[in-house]
Amino acid sequence: MSDYVAQLMASVKAKNPAEPEFHQAVQEVAESVQLVFDRHPEYRAAKVLERIIEMERIILFRVPWVDDAGDVHVNRGFRIEANSAIGPYKGGLRFHPSVNLGILKFLAFEQVFKNALTTLPMGGGKGGSDFDPKGKSDGEVMRFCQSFMTELFRHIGPNTDVPAGDIGVGGREVGFLFGQYKRIRNEFTGVLTGKGLNWGGSLIRPEATGYGAVYFAAEMLATRGETLEGKTCLVSGSGNVAQYTTEKLLELGAKPVTLSDSSGYIYDPAGIDRSKLEFVMELKNVRRGRIHEYAEKYKGVEFVAGSDLDHNPMWNHKADCAFPSATQNEINAKDARNMLENGVYVVSEGANMPTVPEGVDLYLDRGILYGPGKAANAGGVAVSGLEMAQNSMRYGWTREEVDSRLHLIMRSIHGACVKTADRFGKKGNYVVGANIAGFLKVADSMLDQGVV
Ligand code: NAP
Repeated sequence: MSDYVAQLMASVKAKNPAEPEFHQAVQEVAESVQLVFDRHPEYRAAKVLERIIEMERIILFRVPWVDDAGDVHVNRGFRIEANSAIGPYKGGLRFHPSVNLGILKFLAFEQVFKNALTTLPMGGGKGGSDFDPKGKSDGEVMRFCQSFMTELFRHIGPNTDVPAGDIGVGGREVGFLFGQYKRIRNEFTGVLTGKGLNWGGSLIRPEATGYGAVYFAAEMLATRGETLEGKTCLVSGSGNVAQYTTEKLLELGAKPVTLSDSSGYIYDPAGIDRSKLEFVMELKNVRRGRIHEYAEKYKGVEFVAGSDLDHNPMWNHKADCAFPSATQNEINAKDARNMLENGVYVVSEGANMPTVPEGVDLYLDRGILYGPGKAANAGGVAVSGLEMAQNSMRYGWTREEVDSRLHLIMRSIHGACVKTADRFGKKGNYVVGANIAGFLKVADSMLDQGVV
């Protein structure tokens, strides 16, 4: 680590104590943009990175709600407005008991660079709550969402801050949030993305993150003259990103063999085919059940419950590609080592920051095709940007039109990563490429706009 990065990190840690995920995300970006500072000291002199690290605004609020039995609960709500240099704040809402300020700051910080990479005019933000939708009735989720929006509405707007979904926030939650916003504001606008198709949503938005992560993997493979056809793939998670990653993998002739949730994972050596995927979608999106039911329904499938091992055995199966699509730091250094030993040479991150830094170093040292989350999973926010564009036009594009734009955007992100990594002497390093390409767009805009 250079002196500059060491000093920067000491100050970040002192100012933002007990936020390890935020420190991790900042350090990775700082190490990459150090290469820019060596050539262009003007960015460093203008303290652009220090300004990006300091969120523009953090909103913290109480979310009281009443459950079906009449008992009162209190959760904490957050909205982090990280950076508005290139457009309105944009980023998802996460409802999960693990949510805290440090996790949302890491996600908001990552979002700034990711959104810049999409080529669309979107700043970075993130938000959410420590509310756990699991096991709650629809009525409870609705009352929670209404209470959450009763405070959030005053801070957001179609030209100010446009939230979307993330872990625990899907179509159902976005619907309840949108309904309450519209009711309070008496205004029908594109204030959220991921909306239902009947009321301003975009085709392909639910599919976008997963499809995008697969398109990104296909682009990486194409640099070696290969395709996804016939490749065995490990997919983690079984929510939105995992489901549509699996769907696109099947479309491109690959063979996904795993899925997981927080209770464990399934390994299906015969491959998860279309009808099995349909079962998973019904299980997760309608019945809201657990992944072990897959192993009870299909023969020859192993279910491995979560344990306190020092590694996750899901990453220890023979495969060519891995699509982590659950959560941050789900792949530790041992998992990364196991993956490499089992033949994985493509990692395309649907989740945000799913690999610990030591794991990333192992990928880079081995020279595998590694697409970090902020590039590989940018398809979701890219189609959110397209949803905003359609809302502004009061018009909707066809499925083919949106999918082809998504595909083009993923290609362009891939191209920007490759070109930028090359330009800074780090050929094939998508981490450096993504961090620097995203940074330069935001940094140049900030310099144009003065010290604000
Ligand atoms: P989701 O639909 O809520 O699914 C999340 C999946 O990951 C579930 O299977 C969940 O299992 C599992 N999971 C979550 N937290 C976990 C934990 N601590 N340990 C083990 N498993 C866990 O969420 P999603 O939208 O697919 O998001 C997945 C990842 O993609 C997140 O990192 C998110 O930030 C990232 N991402 C999402 C989008 C998007 O458009 N949705 C865009 C970019 C990036 P349980 O149900 O058991 O909790």
